[in-house]
Amino acid sequence: MSRHIAYSILFVVLHLITHLLSAQVLETKNWCLSKCNIAGDEKENTKLVFMQAQNEAIKNSVAFRSSIRFPLRIGIVQQDSVEVELKEITVRRAIDQLNEAFSGGGIVFYIDRVDVILSPLHIEDLSPDHYAAYNDFSDQYDLPNTISLYIFDTKQDFCKIGPERIRCGKLSGFSYVLSRRTNNVVLTRFDLDDQKIVVHEFGHFFGLYHTFEEVQFGKDEFAPGDCEIKGDCICDTPPDPSPIFEVYVNYSNCEMVGLQAESGDPYKPDLRNYMAYYKPCYLKTYRFSPHQLLVMKTAALSEIRSFLSR
Ligand SMILES: [Zn+2]
Repeated sequence: MSRHIAYSILFVVLHLITHLLSAQVLETKNWCLSKCNIAGDEKENTKLVFMQAQNEAIKNSVAFRSSIRFPLRIGIVQQDSVEVELKEITVRRAIDQLNEAFSGGGIVFYIDRVDVILSPLHIEDLSPDHYAAYNDFSDQYDLPNTISLYIFDTKQDFCKIGPERIRCGKLSGFSYVLSRRTNNVVLTRFDLDDQKIVVHEFGHFFGLYHTFEEVQFGKDEFAPGDCEIKGDCICDTPPDPSPIFEVYVNYSNCEMVGLQAESGDPYKPDLRNYMAYYKPCYLKTYRFSPHQLLVMKTAALSEIRSFLSR
């Protein structure tokens, strides 16, 4: 017994020594030269160059010829300066995110040109009167055969503080669903680096509705056959009661618990879906369903959208 303890002690000591030795070895290798970010901007610049190279590859390489390729025109809307007030890497990260999300549909995007558009409009100015200002803006600035991604500023007074209650809301972006009326997607500078919103808006552009949609086609409430003609008209996205019922969501295990439809069926929406309104679940990424990807691919090949591809 005592010998066992002695061995244990010896093992612990040896183990510690080994650790100390390996720590010394690591020090002498000076790993920081390649692993750390000593100057502060090395990692970001490296990522930027890699993404620039990827953009060129999508644009020119035969490897992407089998994909449906959409050039993008980035339109940065600014009030009073022609200097681009947006980091290039922020835009490229958004397009990277877009490409990752759309890869399952065989759709790929690349940045073709970047324009600064001088305009006094904020995103909140576009929506009154059924988006009249937005339609006018699109008529003035859209390109005939390229998707524009307009990036607007917000007014940033997201909350109205009254004597009895505080109301907060923010418009993050929008797009018509499969419309010929405009060739663009609108996003705020605030939400450009959000991991979901840019993908969500392009989902609309390529024909997807919210998973909780009920205005256009009626509410999908589990009745047999309804999933094809109601809600988002897609059967592999389960009925979604809408984000009003978010209190029933457990974001740790990514499940809605305890809410039933009138039919008695428990609601189990896909909380991770790009076209839902839920927050990210713990350690889980957003996704499109296979049928959603098929719809977007079909839309991309249709004459409504294919004239925007190269
Ligand atoms: Zn939406």
